Amino acid sequence: MKFLLRTNQFKWVSLALFVFSIFPSIVILGFEDPFTSRVNQSASGAVKRFFNVSRVRAGSKDSQKLIKLFDLVNEGVQKLRDEIDDENKRRIANAQPRMIRFKVFQHYKDRIQYLVQTSGSSRLYMLKLNSSRAFADGEVISVDLRLLREGGVTEYFKYFPDKNSMIDGKASVRELIELLPNEENMKIEIPNLVKQIDFFTKKEFLSHLKQGSSYQVVTSDLLDCDSCSGGYRIKKISSLQRERVTCSVCGGEGKVTKKVSFQIVWDPTKADVEGPIKK
Ligand SMILES: [Zn+2]
Repeated sequence: MKFLLRTNQFKWVSLALFVFSIFPSIVILGFEDPFTSRVNQSASGAVKRFFNVSRVRAGSKDSQKLIKLFDLVNEGVQKLRDEIDDENKRRIANAQPRMIRFKVFQHYKDRIQYLVQTSGSSRLYMLKLNSSRAFADGEVISVDLRLLREGGVTEYFKYFPDKNSMIDGKASVRELIELLPNEENMKIEIPNLVKQIDFFTKKEFLSHLKQGSSYQVVTSDLLDCDSCSGGYRIKKISSLQRERVTCSVCGGEGKVTKKVSFQIVWDPTKADVEGPIKK
């Protein structure tokens, strides 16, 4: 689910709504078994099948499978939870007070006004401090970002006029003003956090399914081999002779492990627990 990693709030709200919407479809990738040797290589993408919970009987093999699929749904929820946690951590970090560092280029007036540069920039600013503080050229002045305001344009005189300034050495720079701290400008902004989502309980899961929700999970499953019937194929030896040979695709098992995308539904009108979804 790659749609999660951008930062606007709308997305997160819609994400949370998405999970609880009437018709959620959570795509979850289950783990493929790396020890399985018989993977159907010809299958591109996952086979689509439904899994009808309304036909699952307690204690049956299908019931075991339902537990596995339910766990996969919650694994997807876990991924969303981790991503929401990361997003909230980022928002909290961004809301912390930040100090902006300026390098003194030159003292200008009364130990209050300094010509400064931001780190990595040669552009000059006239920084007006909120109180007189002594800094030497090259030293760093740190100003709380919450107190910093942009002022207008101010002029200063260059001691050694260059081609960019007027003959009299007049040059202009933008002013940055450090305000006096007060309750209003020093308050720490409380970040708007994304509401964390909960795991599904089995009861909630069933109730959502009964209300018409469906969930999609991707996992690997043992399905009938497409290349044979029950593990054997009939090989034509001559116009009259046929030979029964072991299927090389499934090794005579009649089944192969395939990537399956299960759509978990509650559909009492269907007689089967499981089956293919026809296109
Ligand atoms: Zn086969």
